[in-house]
Amino acid sequence: MLLATDAIVLHSMEYLESSRILRMLTREAGVQAVIAKGARRPRSRFGAALDLFAQGTAQILLKPGRDLQTLTGFDVARARGALAEDLARFTGAAAIADVLLRFAHDDAGPELFAIVVEALDGVATAPPGGARERTIGGIWRIVGALGFSPSLDDCSICHATVAVGEAVLFHHRAGGILCERCVGSHGGGRAIPRDALETLRLWLGGGEGASLSPREGRAHQRLLHEFVREHLADGRPLRAFDAWATDPADA
Ligand SMILES: [Zn+2]
Repeated sequence: MLLATDAIVLHSMEYLESSRILRMLTREAGVQAVIAKGARRPRSRFGAALDLFAQGTAQILLKPGRDLQTLTGFDVARARGALAEDLARFTGAAAIADVLLRFAHDDAGPELFAIVVEALDGVATAPPGGARERTIGGIWRIVGALGFSPSLDDCSICHATVAVGEAVLFHHRAGGILCERCVGSHGGGRAIPRDALETLRLWLGGGEGASLSPREGRAHQRLLHEFVREHLADGRPLRAFDAWATDPADA
């Protein structure tokens, strides 16, 4: 069947002499691998449309049971060229794409698509120095949409309401914050300030956190990296995400 759906280019590689294989996040059919035949010919009907992070309406010839579908058309609505013009924006968008390509499947629906649109637009329009923050917030929302929201109100072990003082213990394996009683009986975890908890709640609720200092930004980046590795990763490296998450540059 021919599916017409909004789609975003998340990955692109050359294939044979003149074609391109893409992985796209679609609104209707989650992540799909598609071949764009002839896309690298000079007068290809795809033109420059298939750039990374471009969004538009894709026509995909879907054959059930196949791993590789056929892209028959792509009309760009948003090219997101701003992502390629700035390293911090680009590495942030690449980290978002990396997480999606590994953990979203063909059953991802319109809700995830809408969150990814907002995340990429947020990074593309980030003020100078703000790309990291927008990337962290975007990936937390994606993690939430994939079903891995951390527990940020109740204790992630005993489900008691947590009285948050100046700081609270965030326990990756347990999947969120701990109450005082459970802190005593469970080792590990990372103390995070009350402000950081508040920022996490805002991000997961779809809002923007207050502007972070470079140090706070790095701490949030580390927390997100640890959480993704604990809950989503399967031991294989996430190249773009890991590179972004461990980049010490203030960007
Ligand atoms: Zn508890």
